Amino acid sequence: MDLLNNLIENYQSFEEIQIKDRFFKHSLVSDLLDSIRNKKVFRVEEAGLSTMGRSINLIKWGNGPCRVFLWSQMHGDEATATMALADLINFLSQNGIYNEIRDSIDKNCTLYILPMLNPDGAELFTRRNAMEIDINRDFHRQQSPEGQLLRKLRDKIHPHFGFNLHDQSTSWSAGKSGNPATISLLAPAYDEELSINPVRQKAMQVIAIMNKELQKSIPGCVGRFDDEHEPRAFGDNFQAAGTSTILIEAGGFHNDPEKQYIRKVYFKAIITGLISIADESYLHVKNEEYFSIPENKKLHFHLLLRNCKLQRNGIPYLADVGLIAEEKINEDLQSVSYTYVVNELGDLSQYYGYEEINCESFNITEIRGLKIDEPADIIIQDGLNILLTIENGRLTNINE
Ligand SMILES: [Zn+2]
Repeated sequence: MDLLNNLIENYQSFEEIQIKDRFFKHSLVSDLLDSIRNKKVFRVEEAGLSTMGRSINLIKWGNGPCRVFLWSQMHGDEATATMALADLINFLSQNGIYNEIRDSIDKNCTLYILPMLNPDGAELFTRRNAMEIDINRDFHRQQSPEGQLLRKLRDKIHPHFGFNLHDQSTSWSAGKSGNPATISLLAPAYDEELSINPVRQKAMQVIAIMNKELQKSIPGCVGRFDDEHEPRAFGDNFQAAGTSTILIEAGGFHNDPEKQYIRKVYFKAIITGLISIADESYLHVKNEEYFSIPENKKLHFHLLLRNCKLQRNGIPYLADVGLIAEEKINEDLQSVSYTYVVNELGDLSQYYGYEEINCESFNITEIRGLKIDEPADIIIQDGLNILLTIENGRLTNINE
């Protein structure tokens, strides 16, 4: 893994520069795939069509016996993995300092890469597909063309390993540490008892190696996703069907709303996993290393106002106010607006904020009384100096 030490620093050598934020569409992915069609090392084929008729493509690379299937953006507004896969495709097509890694994966594995399973959702930046179905709850019903395709491909490829690639809420923390869960990992359970058979164990072992490598880039910011069995989800069922399935979730990181740093560590997680699958180094890992990854906890607010002096009916009280910035896609479909909603109020001393303000010595004016699940409408002042204004959930003025 020594070669990976400078990976983040060298990232610009293979980063797909046409992707700069989370709002790229199917047309860009199609263009990128067109540009590799004439490269001999890739085989690109249309695997199927989305509900609205957009092409869903599968890229095959490598000549090894171990089949690895990677699919991204089953949820249309979860774009980080597609960015990382675009970078992976560039990485695989290059020649240079990382040849040792490429050669090992090429010789031992065949990769089946499916970027953007839900192009209709990506177009509108929505989780669900054009039928309003959550594809990841459609494994059994098989009503969505996208869900049908994913299941059909697994049955056809019969992969040894599956990489199920998502984004999660940025409110998740890595354990109780105060660090956001920038990357969360999970070997989904195939039954209610959360049993461990050799198939799931392999996924756990690869995850433990990913975690070790990620700690060098984002120390303390890796979480283990909740492993409650979800009978309708693909990961759980693929695990049951004999594919060692690894769930990767991109969460939040300080000052990275468009997830451009997270994209790099996400790529690092994928490439680390592929290296360990190729050289079988994961076989030496003990299960405890997987379980030592701290479990995800929802302890992060986007803005945490500590020690606010409030009052109701003339009774003064002290409360922390935890606000979540809810994202909504703008009409241009190329940007989002944030609404700051009161998520929790009271003693939040065990919680954290991406931004925190200690309001101990400030005055808080409630334009409208703070209410759980409703947009905040407040002014925070230090004497006459306005520090922060949230107007019907919109942050309009912030001075620090
Ligand atoms: Zn998802």
